[in-house]
Amino acid sequence: MPQQSPLDLPEGDPFGPHNLPYGVFTTAAEPQRRRIGVRIGGHVLDAGAAAAALGSAHADLLAAPSLNPLLAAGRPVWTEVRAALTAWVTEPAHRAAVEPLLVPLDEAVMHLPYEVADYVDFYASEHHATNVGRIFRPDGEPLTPNWKHLPIGYHGRSGTLVVSGTDVVRPSGQRKAPADPAPVFGPSIKLDIEAEVGFVVGTPSTMGTPVPLGAFEDHVFGLFLLNDWSARDLQAWEYVPLGPFLGKSFATSVSAWVTPLEALDAARTAPPARDFPLLPYLDDADARPGGFDLRISVAINGEEVAAPPFATMYWTAAQQVAHMTVNGASLRTGDVFGSGTVSGPETGQRGSLLELTWNGRDALELAAGKRTFLEDGDEVTMTAWAPGPDGTRLALGEVTGRITPAV
Ligand code: MN
Repeated sequence: MPQQSPLDLPEGDPFGPHNLPYGVFTTAAEPQRRRIGVRIGGHVLDAGAAAAALGSAHADLLAAPSLNPLLAAGRPVWTEVRAALTAWVTEPAHRAAVEPLLVPLDEAVMHLPYEVADYVDFYASEHHATNVGRIFRPDGEPLTPNWKHLPIGYHGRSGTLVVSGTDVVRPSGQRKAPADPAPVFGPSIKLDIEAEVGFVVGTPSTMGTPVPLGAFEDHVFGLFLLNDWSARDLQAWEYVPLGPFLGKSFATSVSAWVTPLEALDAARTAPPARDFPLLPYLDDADARPGGFDLRISVAINGEEVAAPPFATMYWTAAQQVAHMTVNGASLRTGDVFGSGTVSGPETGQRGSLLELTWNGRDALELAAGKRTFLEDGDEVTMTAWAPGPDGTRLALGEVTGRITPAV
């Protein structure tokens, strides 16, 4: 039977009304007019126009050119807006008003959906941290002594977060292998990916006042896939003693779609067992499960190379926020924090080429040829799905990017 309406979705559509991620789009007809869109099936609902047509107390928030006003409005408003959107796309009485406001996905140009404030990236996968420790410090303990006591992170460069689909120029910089007599300058020869999950802050916090574990849902709006592009040769030479700098800051790609936390209630899962009780501000033994069961897939030129399981992350997003603010540092609307590379215990679950090829020792045999690190023209795409309500699945919006030659 032919589809009667874009809202008549096939059963099990992972972008059904149980999902409803938010983005910002323009169309070819109005390339300057950025609008908030909500993805439903293969279409984008013009949320501001829908709010105006159907009457909403929050129409002004949905008429904005970015998600920031909605992000700043806080959890009770987020819940009301999601309830209204759900009604608009599911109740037959609204169909006539909603259908003309649906834009086919391939006619929508997606933009970075929020103005990024600060960007912090963590290192929260025990399997990733262990693999990296074994590769770079083969004679020492793989995990540093602090690793299981606090979520390790660093401040990144918010101005170079880019929306999915943006090309990534191969970075140049200094590199020096241990045996080299002196550093050389040139295009990175170890350009890598990091499969991560990003979180965006909605409600700000007050400087001087920590955000406890239990206040996570009050401040964090939603999550998305994130690719923390990494130049391993630049990173290896520069990172001692202050951590990542130019090896990371040239680009970080984020999905165009932010999945609200509420859509992921059924995906909540307990993090791995702790080896010992954590300090009280990080102790989540009695808290709501802080993990998310997201099954990530990483593909290079369309060929899957890894399937990292986010449920295996040792540190949760709530613990990362609690740690990030425990010294009194505040949260701002639009703050993004990355989970850290997601790697599971199995070889095929590693979220970086550094681990998948053991720093270039074991090349991947791909249809496009052998790969140790990325070549110019390679396109990396990450997708993910999660359990939804009542046995359904929901998909996260993809994050993709193609490498272009160094300038
Ligand atoms: Mn990272």
